[in-house]
Formats: sequence, C-alpha cells, structure tokens
Amino acid sequence: MPVISSNKPYRVGRSKTGLGLFATKPIKKGTKIIRYFGPMLDCRKKKDDDVENKYLFQINGRWTIDGSVRKNTARYINHACRPNAESDVNSRKRTVFIRAIKNIAPGEEINYDYGTEYFKEYLKPIGCKCAACEKKRAKQRAEARAEKAKEKLKAQKKAAKSKPTKAKSTKALKTAKSVKASKAGTKAGSSKATRASSRRTAEYARSASSGARPGPQVESTARESHGTVLRSDGIRA
Ligand SMILES: [Zn+2]
Repeated sequence: MPVISSNKPYRVGRSKTGLGLFATKPIKKGTKIIRYFGPMLDCRKKKDDDVENKYLFQINGRWTIDGSVRKNTARYINHACRPNAESDVNSRKRTVFIRAIKNIAPGEEINYDYGTEYFKEYLKPIGCKCAACEKKRAKQRAEARAEKAKEKLKAQKKAAKSKPTKAKSTKALKTAKSVKASKAGTKAGSSKATRASSRRTAEYARSASSGARPGPQVESTARESHGTVLRSDGIRA
C-alpha cells in the first residue's frame, strides 16, 4: 500500500527548499488536511528528552511528537511566515492536525507557521526561504538598487553641474588659442610671439648659466602638480 494514496488531496513534491507537500485537489478553508504524528516523547524520561531532530512537535510541557518517522507525511510540510494552514493541537488527546486556514488551490504548496522557537533556532540563522520572506528580501533588494541608482543620478547631476564651468574654461582656452593663432597670422603678432618666446628662451638660458635654472623649474613642477591635485579633488567632491 502506497504511503500517499491517490484519494488524498496532497502529494509530496519538489519545493524551493527541498521537498514539500502540495495540494492536488481544492482544499477548503477549515479542512483538516493531514495528521502530524509519530512516537510520543515524554520529557520526564531522559531517553525521550534526549531525542533531537528537526521534526519534534511539542504538544505541551510534557509531551512531544517525534515526527521524524517515514510514515508521517506531514513532516514534508514546510514552514511559511504567511501560511495557508495551521497546526491544530489537541493537548488532551495529544493529537495534531494540519488544517487549512485559506482555500488552497491544486498545485499550491501547503505550509504552516512552525512557531517562534523553531524559527529562531533553525530558520533565522540560514534565512527563511518562505514566499513572504523571499518577497520581503526582493523588495529590500529593489529598494537598495533604487537607492543606489538615486545616488548615482545625484552624483551625475553634480558632475554635470561642475562640467559646464570646465567646458567653458576649455572653450575660453580654445578661443584664446585661436585668437593667438589669428594674431600669429598677422605680421606684427608673429613677430611679437617670436620675440616673447625668444625672450623666454633667453631667460632660461640665463638662469641655466647662473645655475639657478633647476630652482624655478622645480617650483613650477610643484605648482603644477599641486594644481592637478586640487583639480582632481574638485572632480571627486
Ligand atoms: Zn518566512
């Protein structure tokens, strides 16, 4: 005889976290779907109290169901923070039934909330993989992405704001250059430029001969590099 007979409204199937229990027929809200069962453990007995596995279902201060047995198909039901079923515990009879708290459609995974203790011990450390938690994480990721995009846009806007000045200065420089070039085109301008350049050469030659040349050169290099640092700072800010 198969463990899961076909007249049951569920089957074991692959879920995101391994195996799970899935509805094969519409299950009405309030329906007892399956019993969670197994050997009864008495915590007053040391042997029972020492049993440890992920399928222990505590009924009350004394009794716990060891649901790790193969026959207990309900052990395949996964936890969900926003479940479509719940565990209905009868403490006096020491029975547990999983009952639908929503109408469940065929194909839908059946799940119930395992409770705070289980969540803290087993799920929180690895991150709960239930649909609600996955959705929450996806939302958080989307929000983080949006925030990042916003920051990027802000930085781009800031860069764009400082760019026009730079472009302007480049343009001004170009204009000055072209003016110079056009001036150079004229005879007077050309001779002026030649004179200026020759003067500078003479100056350098003079300082070189006096041994003072390295001085100004070093100074100008230092100034230039300082300017570069400042400029890159400006870009970074
Ligand atoms: Zn969850």
